[in-house]
Amino acid sequence: MDGTLARDLRAALASARELLRELLEEGLDTFPPAPPPPRRGDRLDHPPQPSATAPQPSPLFADPPLWSAHPTLPEVRAALGECTRCRLAQGRTQIVFGDGSPDADLLFVGEGPGEQEDLQGLPFVGRAGELLTQMIEKGLGVPRRSVYICNIVKCRPPQNRTPLADEVNACRRFLDGQIDAIQPRVIVALGKPATSLLLGRDVSITRVRGTWQEYRGTPVMPTFHPAFILRQYTAENRRLVWEDLKAALARVRELGGRL
Ligand code: URA
Repeated sequence: MDGTLARDLRAALASARELLRELLEEGLDTFPPAPPPPRRGDRLDHPPQPSATAPQPSPLFADPPLWSAHPTLPEVRAALGECTRCRLAQGRTQIVFGDGSPDADLLFVGEGPGEQEDLQGLPFVGRAGELLTQMIEKGLGVPRRSVYICNIVKCRPPQNRTPLADEVNACRRFLDGQIDAIQPRVIVALGKPATSLLLGRDVSITRVRGTWQEYRGTPVMPTFHPAFILRQYTAENRRLVWEDLKAALARVRELGGRL
């Protein structure tokens, strides 16, 4: 093999490795099967699949308000009702609204309930939840019940897949209602889907984690999702999340929070 070809191959391999690392950090564990090749006569202009994180156009007419400007959590929960606004209703055991203090200074926003959450009706009670609880209680030294934890969608997606854009959009006013009710001093966005929703654009979590952002006037600290930490359990990843959570707690305290 001549020197130029070997150099090109090494460079291509390095780029492929870098791409794989990014994908793993963004939550991809397995590659989806390749679609079958088109057959003669197939239309090639399939409509694009909705993405969980693509920014959505603003609706021409906003939905009528479901609660006052300063709702309580029970009002938001009552407005959600036995929701059938999207297809996730069909597969759920129960709605997983949220858990914790109604006037928490620190709000954690995850992606969507998993199997255990769906069975128990509480967010973050499976393996990822145990890790999150440990990080809150042992790491930050605050009781889990003193913060509030919820998700961008309140029903379990099938096979724990990432929620689709229309599912996220059907649920987002209830997340907004929770934020308006709790008025946290700081929000921690766990993983790419929650961060992309709050930032209103498709983000690379690897790039934005650890940097202060804002959602409707509230500081947001994006960090890795605990499920990603479980999959990629490296000292470096744990250190990065720990830095982000410490920064979030410090900001709560600077802003006069009681944690
Ligand atoms: N992952 C999430 O994003 N939320 C949960 O409630 C559980 C796991």
